[in-house]
Amino acid sequence: MATIFTKIINREIPANIVYENEKVIAFKDINPQAPVHILVVPKKEIPTINDITEEDKELIGEMYLAIGKIAKELGIAEEGYRVITNCNEFGGQEVFHIHFHLLGGKKLGTLV
Ligand code: 5GP
Repeated sequence: MATIFTKIINREIPANIVYENEKVIAFKDINPQAPVHILVVPKKEIPTINDITEEDKELIGEMYLAIGKIAKELGIAEEGYRVITNCNEFGGQEVFHIHFHLLGGKKLGTLV
């Protein structure tokens, strides 16, 4: 089922887009948890990490390449940052279209 992220990809609702290519889009999180909080999203609708298949291997690589480029563009690559993907209820996933949270711009606390 299409989520809010597909609506952002299709320009049906606005977002502050910081990066886009054929397969990946990245935009600012509406409720940032750090000075830099970007959501990196594949255009393909994959609900959770559990749904990634062999055919998505290259796409997942594209996501990390995009993350590296975005981090450099936003000037956080050298100081460092964190990449998180939540999965299902215990992981705290709210939007069921996989995405990587790119968090940085300050020294982050412990993970949980
Ligand atoms: P999850 O909890 O699924 O890992 O993360 C979903 C993220 O999407 C949350 O950090 C939330 O703030 C963000 N989010 C939810 N709706 C929107 C929206 O309409 N626009 C943007 N830019 N971010 C959203």
